[in-house]
Amino acid sequence: MAETSTGTTPKFYDLTLEQRWQWLQTHTNLSAEEIAALSGKAGLSAEQADHMIENVIGTFALPLGIARHFVVNGREVLVPMAVEEPSVVAGASFAARLARAGGGFTAHTTEPHMIGQMQILDLPDPSSARLRLLEAREALLAEAAAVDPVLQRLGGGPRDLEVRLIESSPIGPFLVLHLIYDVRDAMGANAVNTAVERLAGRVQAITGGRVLLRILSNLADRRLARARCTIPLRELAFGDFRPETVRDGIIAAWAFAAADPYRAATHNKGIMNGVDAVVIATGNDWRAVEAGAHAYAARSGRYTSLSTWGKDAEGNLVGTLEMPLAVGIVGGATRVHPAARAALKLMGVSTARELAEIIVSVGLAQNLAALRALATEGIQRGHMALHARQVAIAAGATGEMIERLAEQLVRENTVRIDRAEEILREWSQKHS
Ligand code: NAD
Repeated sequence: MAETSTGTTPKFYDLTLEQRWQWLQTHTNLSAEEIAALSGKAGLSAEQADHMIENVIGTFALPLGIARHFVVNGREVLVPMAVEEPSVVAGASFAARLARAGGGFTAHTTEPHMIGQMQILDLPDPSSARLRLLEAREALLAEAAAVDPVLQRLGGGPRDLEVRLIESSPIGPFLVLHLIYDVRDAMGANAVNTAVERLAGRVQAITGGRVLLRILSNLADRRLARARCTIPLRELAFGDFRPETVRDGIIAAWAFAAADPYRAATHNKGIMNGVDAVVIATGNDWRAVEAGAHAYAARSGRYTSLSTWGKDAEGNLVGTLEMPLAVGIVGGATRVHPAARAALKLMGVSTARELAEIIVSVGLAQNLAALRALATEGIQRGHMALHARQVAIAAGATGEMIERLAEQLVRENTVRIDRAEEILREWSQKHS
């Protein structure tokens, strides 16, 4: 659901928890039950969880925040983020505000095409088996199409077939068949796995070989999401830093990631801070998204940055992000988990592609927030105030004491649990 008056409402972070729930009630179309699911007062029950995985003993909660100021393809979006790490939600919101000054994020996705793989072994002549499979393309696609009439009716289903010869492997050559499958609004793993399992018999008959693995590939490079943004130069001024200095610092920081895998891993982790938080909040499979992102980052044979940063003719900062994003709004946990359902409604998305367009924009925003901090004052200053609260809680502070203790730790520039415990002891001695 779009915000009606972003910027004119009081600062969201200044509101109390109670006021934020109230705000959701008046500014979104979420019902009281849906707000309760997001607030943690209701939501996924142990009984519901018991139907989802094995040996259930309960549920596990994470903090859920809303990133603000996001404009994606001209539409204002409230972005739910489930994450335990301080500064992620604040960073995304801050960067979204910078991007908003340049028109927000422009994002698009390719068709939701996933790849199902089949490994075909024991072939005396893999090359001719490959051609026989390609000759049978139409029959194989027709058989795959019959597997999921729901997807077929919705305009999805098998699209293409590729056969690759792996010439050298630890067990010698074998064939790999790729079934390209349009999964519409699903993440698609179950749909694709079912289709490739169904085809195994016919593939064995055609090739005379033995089909072993039949499974989706998480390198979903046929299902890409792309986002770009322009940050007007003037928006980058920060304290004593000139906007040109900040812009060029961000570009230099990106160049480091583009050239060095040690930096690229951390750079991409920063992107995934944003991506995963939304993927999790919407009940999607974050391991699948993680696996796809990192495999894509290494597609040239050398692991590198998923994003790019540069400047346009006017000197504004421009950023892009491209990555595979296999997320759904049906299937998996997306419709089962009450908070995930409410999170999807909050964003007002009606297709999986729209969801991916928001997520890739959040990834780009998160990347910008991290690079800007790194290229100026460093990451720790912004981080410490929030981190100090966690340290205060871990040391045993409760209620109003948490904020007081956190402030003192930051003031002393010693955000450490031993010092936090020491202060708590001093305070309790004073009061005893
Ligand atoms: P699913 O099977 O629960 O739902 C997809 C099905 O929903 C489709 O096959 C279709 O029949 C139906 N459907 C109804 N409306 C639809 C619409 N508008 N668009 C598309 N389909 C529609 O889920 P899934 O998305 O196929 O699989 C996702 C699950 O698979 C996740 O829980 C994931 O964790 C799991 N998984 C992942 C892997 C992997 O990533 N390697 C492997 C196995 C399982």
